[in-house]
Amino acid sequence: MNDKEFEKRRRQLMRMVGPGGIAILPSAPVRTRSRDVEYRFRQDSDFYYLTGFPEPEAVAVLVPGRENGEYLMFCRERDPARELWDGHRAGQDGAIEAYGADDAFPIEDLDDILPGIMESCERVYYTMGMYAEFDTRMADWVNTLRSKLSKGVQSPHEFVALDHLLHDMRLFKSKGEISAMRKSARVAVEAHKRAMRMARPGLYEYEVEAELRYEFRRNGGWVSYNPIVGGGANACILHYVENNAPLKDGDLLLIDAGCEIDYYASDITRTFPVNGRFTPEQRALYQVVYDAQQAAIAKTVAGNHWNEPHDAAVTAITKGLKKLGLLDGSVARLIKDEAYQQFYMHRTGHWIGMDVHDVGDYKVGDEWRMLEPGMVTTVEPGIYTGNSRKVPKQFRNIGIRIEDDVAVTSKGPDVLSKGLVSDAEGIEALMNASA
Ligand code: CA
Repeated sequence: MNDKEFEKRRRQLMRMVGPGGIAILPSAPVRTRSRDVEYRFRQDSDFYYLTGFPEPEAVAVLVPGRENGEYLMFCRERDPARELWDGHRAGQDGAIEAYGADDAFPIEDLDDILPGIMESCERVYYTMGMYAEFDTRMADWVNTLRSKLSKGVQSPHEFVALDHLLHDMRLFKSKGEISAMRKSARVAVEAHKRAMRMARPGLYEYEVEAELRYEFRRNGGWVSYNPIVGGGANACILHYVENNAPLKDGDLLLIDAGCEIDYYASDITRTFPVNGRFTPEQRALYQVVYDAQQAAIAKTVAGNHWNEPHDAAVTAITKGLKKLGLLDGSVARLIKDEAYQQFYMHRTGHWIGMDVHDVGDYKVGDEWRMLEPGMVTTVEPGIYTGNSRKVPKQFRNIGIRIEDDVAVTSKGPDVLSKGLVSDAEGIEALMNASA
């Protein structure tokens, strides 16, 4: 993302905050994995969205209309000795020169400087409940200011949920963001192709997972969530991440995996036969999920509401399951009674962007939100038969999901992950093509 885009976002937010307001955003904390080993640092999405600043121990402050600078950054000081161990720090000069801050201060001075700036503001825009430690500091500053009230010191009297404004901005992706997401999807597409080509009976699920991670890393990406690589009945466990079983001849393999590149996520699922050929039962069920996904994608258009793709998927799945004898009754009745939930128990999509399950409201008041150009959602219907005795034996323990990332545009659905085949014939052709 270029510097102009970060600046544009800050301007947009500051227009909404307005004079008299102050927005305060802490960076993500460094988290411990085990003993003295840390997780790889990942910047907080909201903080990064506005600053592009990748370091921990930083606080961004936006004060629209402030004469001595509207955009302030508190961050770590340069420290050659520490940088030798932990890597480069931008320091205060870097925050100003490379990241566009109007002024910058050492993070150690936060307690001394920030309350003084808050003092002259009426409204504080802050996201409560994300980082407990920072919430406490915020409460301390406010209490200190209040205790000075009698001495004539002003104090902010209104707290506004910053996430409410910011997450509505993040819901609408710019051109630059869509192209970042397209890149993230393209790398995930290659990773899935790689997995399909190498899968065969006898391999372990983690060996397939390794192929995905290899493709992500060689493109400068990371996993955007823990990949699900589930063979056979494991595909019926929705959040299966053990990925440690051997792949069996005759089973399907469900892979739900995506990457994050330049802070934008992809999230793709494909289900394919371990040996490269669907059995008739697998193919029949697969076709139902495929038809449901096609129906749902067709409904992912501007002017429809959020739930219309899901409704379309539910109808297609219910019809398909009835045709195969897994559900019995009238389609209308089966939908009303939610009979399909025995086989399809999750929703058809979620917003995707900087976070895999991205921010943004799905409802406005009591109504489903309208889809508008710039929104990006996954479309991911599935069928999971489980091992119930009520399910005919040949259909038991099959889990199938097909998931793509779809941008809503003025010209209809734009499937960002369309480079990856999803129909049964296409999958068999890819798996059986000689290299
Ligand atoms: Ca997924």
